[in-house]
Amino acid sequence: MYRLLIFALFYLLLLLVPLALSFLGPDSQVMPPRPLPDEFAAGLAMVGFTAVLLEFFLLGRFRPLSRTLGSDLAMQAHQLLARSALVFLCLHPFLYSLWGQQHRPWDESYAQALRIGGGSWGLFTGLLALGALLAMVVLALGPARRNNYDRWRLGHGVLALGVLILGLHHTLASGRYAQLPALQVFWSILALLAAASWFGVYLLRPLLQKGQSYRLSLVKPLAERIWEIEITPTCGSPMRFSPGQFAWLKLGGLAPHKDHPFSISSAPLANGSLKFIVKEAGDFTQALPGQAIGTVAYVDGPYGNFSIPEKAQAIIMLAGGIGIASFTGLLADCAQRGERRPIRLIYAEHNPEQMVALADLCHCQNLIDFQLLPMVEKPGADWNGLVGRLDAQGLAKALAHPAVASIAGQAHYMVCGPAAMMDGVESHLIANGVPMERVQSEHFQYDFHGCSPRALVLRRGWLVLSLMAGFLSALVLSLRGATG
Ligand SMILES: Cc1cc2nc3c(=O)[nH]c(=O)nc-3n(C[C@H](O)[C@H](O)[C@H](O)COP(=O)(O)OP(=O)(O)OC[C@H]3O[C@@H](n4cnc5c(N)ncnc54)[C@H](O)[C@@H]3O)c2cc1C
Repeated sequence: MYRLLIFALFYLLLLLVPLALSFLGPDSQVMPPRPLPDEFAAGLAMVGFTAVLLEFFLLGRFRPLSRTLGSDLAMQAHQLLARSALVFLCLHPFLYSLWGQQHRPWDESYAQALRIGGGSWGLFTGLLALGALLAMVVLALGPARRNNYDRWRLGHGVLALGVLILGLHHTLASGRYAQLPALQVFWSILALLAAASWFGVYLLRPLLQKGQSYRLSLVKPLAERIWEIEITPTCGSPMRFSPGQFAWLKLGGLAPHKDHPFSISSAPLANGSLKFIVKEAGDFTQALPGQAIGTVAYVDGPYGNFSIPEKAQAIIMLAGGIGIASFTGLLADCAQRGERRPIRLIYAEHNPEQMVALADLCHCQNLIDFQLLPMVEKPGADWNGLVGRLDAQGLAKALAHPAVASIAGQAHYMVCGPAAMMDGVESHLIANGVPMERVQSEHFQYDFHGCSPRALVLRRGWLVLSLMAGFLSALVLSLRGATG
């Protein structure tokens, strides 16, 4: 959690940079004080636009960020902070003291009355940027995202670039403080970096991937609608990764919006091949069984930080359904390294036939201090594992198992599975006294509506951060010399 706190503080500081730079301006004769609402509006706009530009880095697939924060946190931060940026930017035009008077934002006279440069064009691009930002958030929250993820992603990317260009024009043309050289430099550099991040994801990486290709070397059914696939490097140096990380996989082409994230289910292999365990969900995953061996594949990665912490004394892994894909690589690596710490895996599925990788997992039991505890809802007559689902009751039962109970007190918990299961497991563990920093999760879905203690802490943190940013923008600019 302290990483999150450092991130939040650093983020808040970045948001406040343009406000601080506004003090480097000329004296009040050149830029006479305005009423406080006008200053507050300008402050919210500066904080909001900085937040928009920072959004590009949260999604820019920066490995250090993904490694430090984890993809879950980076993505949640991206989603939550976009909402604050939208609120700040939507509010700011209404706060100007001119609002409601005879002037209208699209009138040249309004621009003149606000004593800003850029005239109507600056205001027009501001309105367009706001519309595009609103569309992005509404589309991200609505069904468009679920119905056709790839198309939604492409639209999201194009709109983001639009917001960047239009927002920058509006800021530089109409922003009162953007007339100051220090702020012009600040906005230009931040916007350039954000654009570089966008081009990196949408253009540069696909181009670089050309020289680092793989081919599909295995497609094997493991259970109903679950497949194992393997890709083998054909040119360039193969991707290096830590077990437990994930990569964005593309098959057949280089289109930037057509890659999908999958946990690497193998330990690093000598020939550079990567394995994935994939459950059919929609277009991309359902087409996998029909893909010809030899199809060209590209990966972007590795990302995420779902690794066993060095400090952990014992590890309890909790996998639900396809969540097992996050653990097989970790366990294979532990077996290869001769890991000495005790590891237990509670693996829950609907029925025994849906369980995958059992032979490999059982093999690990012979090599290291590892025990697999399978749990199913619908056991067959010859079932001798746990029975139930991984809810509060099932978890309590699993944790009471002698093999688990002996290490549960000092263990580090790693959770991956369906969102509802993860929520329940996290809540139960934390309610039973496991410190939050000893519960590590990897989500396969980026819709975070969870109500686990961690999700609540995050949402409260976000609310406090947003309120502080709003409050500080009013305070700082009123100190700069608002008239009242
Ligand atoms: C970090 C991470 C690791 C994952 N690891 C695995 C794994 O090891 N095995 C596995 O079977 N699945 C894994 N998934 C889920 C997998 O990415 C989706 O099931 C897959 O992308 C669905 O694509 P589709 O076109 O078949 O289905 P669609 O119908 O397009 O999507 C179904 C749902 O999957 C999600 N999704 C689709 N595309 C993406 C994308 N590009 N980025 C993020 N979410 C997307 C969306 O919530 C969407 O509503 C992982 C997801 C994440 C975020």
